[in-house]
Amino acid sequence: MKFLLQDRAIRAILLDIEGTTTPIAFVYDVLFPFARIRLRAYLEDPAHAAVVRDVLELLRKEWDADTAARRGVADWQEAAPGSASTYLEWLMDHDIKSPALKRLQGLIWEGGYRAGELRGEVFPDVRPAFERWRDARVTIAIYSSGSVLAQRLLFGATREGDLTPFIAAFFDTGVGPKRWPDSYRRIAGELQHDAAGVLFVSDTPAELDAARGAGCHVLLAERPGNRSASYSDAESIRSFDQIV
Ligand SMILES: [Mg+2]
Repeated sequence: MKFLLQDRAIRAILLDIEGTTTPIAFVYDVLFPFARIRLRAYLEDPAHAAVVRDVLELLRKEWDADTAARRGVADWQEAAPGSASTYLEWLMDHDIKSPALKRLQGLIWEGGYRAGELRGEVFPDVRPAFERWRDARVTIAIYSSGSVLAQRLLFGATREGDLTPFIAAFFDTGVGPKRWPDSYRRIAGELQHDAAGVLFVSDTPAELDAARGAGCHVLLAERPGNRSASYSDAESIRSFDQIV
């Protein structure tokens, strides 16, 4: 199957990351463990005192507002930054999308990318597709639950080089949840295109439903390592080579 951009009058391609541009394993087997292993040392490093204070303030507010979290971690001591790691690890164990945790992970990844210890991973068809779409004057944008900082870092240091010059805009859940049609309407507005001119590609049916609800075109990404989504409501692709 080929998805022909011109036939559908597509002006912008909006891409999910995990399971779409990037193997899910990269996030779970590389990125998350990288941050987890360095978390305590990062919090305790005096060189990070100012930023750690900010993050812990945010974390404290989240903890106060979250009774489930308080059941998970009872021994929070504000005076000892190290004790926050217990709560942060609990958040990671439960895969809870905490803004404070995300900020901290972003900072740790940033250090790793800058030191050359981390490289962003994308499927081999991604860079050639970016080149092709750019040449066709199609806008390329990213929408991921990972922070914009984390997205920029990932695409900024891949084995195929810095891919950020191809990408016109990065969106995270600051624009709205990925399962809400309004988020896709907002993104289309920001990209200055009608929703009907936007193609959204993701491995997650609920996200595709939301994008379609906003009037976007959608494609299901079936990548190696993805949970197989039984989803008959959209066309699917195995490679970006199919989007021409
Ligand atoms: Mg995904």
